[in-house]
Amino acid sequence: MSYGLLTPDVPLGPFEGAVVTLWSAQAKDAKLHSTSSCSYVRSAFVAERKVQLDASAVGRLCTQCASYGSWARPGTGLAVFLDAVTGMGLLYELDRCCDGEDGFDDVELDEAASLLLSSSVRGEESAQTGGEDAEDDHWEEVREARRVRESVVAEWLDALVSLHRVLRVVAMFPWLRSWAEPRVQRKSDRLQVLRARAGRLVAPDALVLAAAVSVMKEPDLPVDDPAFALLGTRGEVADSLMSLWRQWRSAVEDSWDHPREQEYLAYRLSRGMSSRRKGRDQMLERAQVLLGAWAEEAARPVAGDCGERVLAVALDGGFLSASGRRASVLEQLSQWEWGVLATYTVSVDWAGAEPVLSLRVPEPIAARLLLQRSPLVYEHRDDEKPLAGDRMTALEMSPALGPGVFDDTPVHGRQLLRQEHLRALRDTAGGTEQLYVVLGLGAGVEVMTLGALEQRCAAGWQGVILAAASDLPDALIDAALRPSAAEAVENDDVWARPVYDPEEEAFGRSLSAAEGERVLVRLCREKREVRQALKSLALARSLPDLRDLEAVAEDEQGYPLRPFARAVWNGLLAMEQLDLEPFAPEGDEHWADGSGLPLGVLASVQAYTTDAFGRFQGRAHSPGCAHRRPYAGVDRHDEKVSIEELLYAKGFNACSKCGGYAVRRLSDVQVAYYRAAHRLHHLIQISVSDSGTADVEKYLSRLDGLCSLDAQAEQAWFPDRGQARQWRQVINRLRAGLQARA
Ligand SMILES: [Zn+2]
Ligand SMILES: [Zn+2]
Repeated sequence: MSYGLLTPDVPLGPFEGAVVTLWSAQAKDAKLHSTSSCSYVRSAFVAERKVQLDASAVGRLCTQCASYGSWARPGTGLAVFLDAVTGMGLLYELDRCCDGEDGFDDVELDEAASLLLSSSVRGEESAQTGGEDAEDDHWEEVREARRVRESVVAEWLDALVSLHRVLRVVAMFPWLRSWAEPRVQRKSDRLQVLRARAGRLVAPDALVLAAAVSVMKEPDLPVDDPAFALLGTRGEVADSLMSLWRQWRSAVEDSWDHPREQEYLAYRLSRGMSSRRKGRDQMLERAQVLLGAWAEEAARPVAGDCGERVLAVALDGGFLSASGRRASVLEQLSQWEWGVLATYTVSVDWAGAEPVLSLRVPEPIAARLLLQRSPLVYEHRDDEKPLAGDRMTALEMSPALGPGVFDDTPVHGRQLLRQEHLRALRDTAGGTEQLYVVLGLGAGVEVMTLGALEQRCAAGWQGVILAAASDLPDALIDAALRPSAAEAVENDDVWARPVYDPEEEAFGRSLSAAEGERVLVRLCREKREVRQALKSLALARSLPDLRDLEAVAEDEQGYPLRPFARAVWNGLLAMEQLDLEPFAPEGDEHWADGSGLPLGVLASVQAYTTDAFGRFQGRAHSPGCAHRRPYAGVDRHDEKVSIEELLYAKGFNACSKCGGYAVRRLSDVQVAYYRAAHRLHHLIQISVSDSGTADVEKYLSRLDGLCSLDAQAEQAWFPDRGQARQWRQVINRLRAGLQARA
């Protein structure tokens, strides 16, 4: 059986004519497949084809691929559409819960109802007929009736959720509306039938009593009753009876059965007690009387006619799919709340974006629904609103999801992004967390995670998606994937060999952005992963503050949804520190041998640490430090400081393992200056320690190299002239000293 088979009659709307990549054998009318590895491929030779999507192409799809195939690029509008319609989506739901496939017939339902609704008189009945066998049979029948009730109520709730799913898909893709309408009508009619069936199996008075019990005050417990004396000391008797009361109340308030059904709880008092113990039976008898008295006590205030109120409850789409694509929040409700919905729902209003159930309930139930903690939020309504006319017309107001929201249409044809679009994307298998480039009138072009984009949209942001990381062209990253000639000769280690001598060309290179790409490629094992990671890196690099890359969305289990592979952080950050000695002021207490060189273009380099100024307990850690947390990466708990701030931060107390911070990777200019500053610093150091004359010529020629900066390089290294002057002064002083020695 193929679920959700896409057939040629399904309107494709604006996606008609979209070009998709499919596979087929040579023959002219050969079946089309979404992948060359489809198990239904009969020929050994299948070729890739660009096919225009229309009814005839759909007719040629193999059934397997037409039901489950992912033949659109993930994350595009067409992929969201196909996912919503095929598989376990719209086509599957339209055929569900729509005709007379009743599990139980009317007679069975009547039998179950008579047992369930009158079970409160069971006590007298079994006393009259007598005999344990008769009682056993009765119990078996009641058990069966309960099973019927659970199944019938579940069937109704399932139909409710199913219709809701259908209407959400139709709202998102409105060209499906008239095509789906006859089957939507059938589902809607069926829903009413199922609701009525469910209502027949729940006793309204039991629901009212349960509501009354939920607000009952603690009763006076008969602690001094001699029947309970065998429970122990007076204090122990009080504890046992209090525990019995609490268990009884919690069982009654969540149940759709009459409170009397919970009398078996009395037996918990005799746990661990021999059945021959003297006084046990009297105690249990007395306890059952006590439970009966509590039930009567609860019934007293609600006896007679009580008022009614009309409440409304919206079945929010988020609720319906909060715990996974197919689960429903309705499954989290108590039996009592199911019973209330089945018994008192007077209408379901489908006019808005989400269905709204109207309930006409007795006062005690209304009070509880309005106050209780439930996944559903009930509201009071002045009066039952008449059912809105045509549920389909209202849906027209919802934002349609056509081409131009998520996919590669020309930019001038882009559609404004709406919250509902993102929800549809999240519900789609390919709708995973990643980075997006978006454009809004207010803030211009920005890069953010899908989770952050959802928050923006919810707050009313208006803009369009320019591209997701996965949309970026491969050409952008091909060069980074090609190993350079130098690398081919060097070994294949993830981390570059440390270079301590600034005279070496490679000094400082481990801090560079280019090294970030190299490390990322080596850390990602899988080829597909590495492409997406490099594209994410390209986007992430445009963020002014890397803490904004924090995962804000969560998966169904509450784990953060990361926008990219962990290795991307190594592309963004060098998990090492700058050696700042050349820039430390001369004679500074923290630095033994500072040369007082200007920080120049390095001043603004970002550092990320847990604690830049020693404000918190413990040492400061780098985002890559295992002392901190298992996940490498920064979030809002980190501090972002400039290297300049860090150089003068007195309280900074670094962890000896990680060095205390990670630096945002350096540009080529920054690496060049970092190396030049270290070369100069090194020369200063040697000239102090080495008073000989042998190497002076060599030092002088190195110095010339550091001094002969052209105007462009000088501007790139030193944002202000004063720093350039300072650089030259240090060099001139050193040169004078060396020349004097020569
Ligand atoms: Zn196939
Ligand atoms: Zn650390």
